[in-house]
Amino acid sequence: MRRKYMFTGKVELKSAMHIGGKKINLRGTDRPVVLTPEGSPFIPGSSFKGVFRSTVEKLVGTIPNQTTCSLVEGICPTATQEKFNNRRRNGNWSEGHLAQILDAELCATCKLFGSPFSASKIFFSDLYVNEWSETTQVRDGVAIDRDSERAVDKLKYDYEVVPIGSTFKMEIVLENPTDTDLSLACIGLNEFVSGMGGIGGMRSRGLGNCQVVDLMGYELDMTDLDQLKNYLIGKELKCKMSAINDVDGFLKERIEELFKEKENAQATS
Ligand SMILES: [Zn+2]
Repeated sequence: MRRKYMFTGKVELKSAMHIGGKKINLRGTDRPVVLTPEGSPFIPGSSFKGVFRSTVEKLVGTIPNQTTCSLVEGICPTATQEKFNNRRRNGNWSEGHLAQILDAELCATCKLFGSPFSASKIFFSDLYVNEWSETTQVRDGVAIDRDSERAVDKLKYDYEVVPIGSTFKMEIVLENPTDTDLSLACIGLNEFVSGMGGIGGMRSRGLGNCQVVDLMGYELDMTDLDQLKNYLIGKELKCKMSAINDVDGFLKERIEELFKEKENAQATS
């Protein structure tokens, strides 16, 4: 490992949230939320990664020189897996050649978030509750008949939500990101900091609006021997990694970087 970044903060719910849990539950609701064994709500890191990835994917395709296979079926091997595997078999590629091809053809979001061909460079911890009212809420849901626009009696159900205002502790780590990887992660962070992000199900009912608050950033360059030493000796995060003083300025700078000339886009890997 050469370069590492960590971002911490809190995800604050701006509306109630529903992330579905096990169907069998003692709370007697049709659609329970996911809870820890102790009964506290949490946001699985995989759920947060999913929405973070799709938030970035929606925007990346609009940036010049950036690609994402979720929008256009380009040449990204993830979007053309069968074709790609055939080429790989027929070409009898060495590991080194495969790595070169993947570097050239994988889209920007597959490189950052991972694909069937490459590991993720960004990691999301499960988000455990920081503050909440210690109780979930159950709401009535009614299925509406599309033709008559009237409620369908038999299709009544209820669902559980985590109340508005609850906060969850967030931790995101990037390992050996390229400059482009880091910039794309900053696009996602900036969306969530601006309150444009969302989490969980039933979003069309206005659930799952959220905002990242108290964002802090830390960086570590292990090729710098002083930083490496501090990392190895330090016990607490603030001793192990250097805090980014102006994290908002950092996000802005990293995003602006994507709009500069292409030459430094793939500088480090
Ligand atoms: Zn892709």
